[in-house]
Amino acid sequence: MPETMQALVVTEPNRMEIRELPLPVPGPNEVLARVRAVSICGTDAHLIRGDYPGFWPPAFPFTPGHEWAGEIAALGPGAERFGWKVGDRVAGTSHDACGVCRECVEGRYNLCENYGREGLHRQYGHNVAGADAEFVVHGVKCVFPLPDGLTFEDGALIDPASIALHVANRGNVTPGDTVAITGAGAIGLLGGDAARIRGASRVILIERNPGRLAKAAEMGFETVDSGSGDPVATVREMTGGFGVDVVLECAGVPVTVQWALAMLRRGGRCAAVGIPTQGVEIAMQRLVLDELELVGSRASAGEMRRVMPLVEQGRMRVRDVMTHRFALADYPQALATFNDPGSGAIKIIVAP
Ligand SMILES: [Zn+2]
Ligand SMILES: [Zn+2]
Repeated sequence: MPETMQALVVTEPNRMEIRELPLPVPGPNEVLARVRAVSICGTDAHLIRGDYPGFWPPAFPFTPGHEWAGEIAALGPGAERFGWKVGDRVAGTSHDACGVCRECVEGRYNLCENYGREGLHRQYGHNVAGADAEFVVHGVKCVFPLPDGLTFEDGALIDPASIALHVANRGNVTPGDTVAITGAGAIGLLGGDAARIRGASRVILIERNPGRLAKAAEMGFETVDSGSGDPVATVREMTGGFGVDVVLECAGVPVTVQWALAMLRRGGRCAAVGIPTQGVEIAMQRLVLDELELVGSRASAGEMRRVMPLVEQGRMRVRDVMTHRFALADYPQALATFNDPGSGAIKIIVAP
């Protein structure tokens, strides 16, 4: 085992370098993993820009990264009692919740009452060090066995795939539903697959970026270009004036939230996973009088294991959203590609 490792260190907003850091040591019920693939998430881009000051991360310097897969390299005390062995292939996720509070006990550990409290809760790559490094320490609650049929790159996209499944579950997509999705990034596209897995008969992706629209069409979804014309009128037209049963709001922009509610049928439901950075004005009259439902969807809660067979079966098409690959040393270039709307980037895989 080496004594040090290469890791991405964000020293202050928008400044980063690769540093040689001491190898982290796994504590009780934790594992040390050799990271083989880590994916860049929209949250990483925000966090590196300093968009969540004092929260994600609590302070700089910081190592992000929370969508990853790798192999277990060492076990902390007690990890073996959960069946883990050195060499096991795993996919990681970020929420390491307390396991004891009311939300955790009721299975909603993504809403842990002890969020961010020292010693009780951590979210890797958000409020504690993440996986943009050769090695990472995770609690045993946050690693899941990666099936032989999935590559490490597939494994790095299990976390976002679980989030896509969670938002479709929160949207309560029902067989035969027409589902609209605002935003054809990775969560929107995989959310389209999740809607189909739950039985949607039609999935309509709403997006303005031409590259992403083309990707959505290539994956077999109906598309609406929100850059030309009124997407609400278009979706109403496409549904005979009726509106859609469910919207998965994956863009996180005030106007897309308003579109989402405006294109719902009476009694329809919107599940929102995009996080707007500003307040959003909601048409409350229509929400009340048409009994619309608007629910939030945070990360995932129990979908990591459930989504892996769906990825293996090709029903959750993570490989279709992988567009670029970089070495860890080239992380700044990888991030610039991710942030460039003309690059065609959806999911970028970094190999530490
Ligand atoms: Zn993510
Ligand atoms: Zn908890």
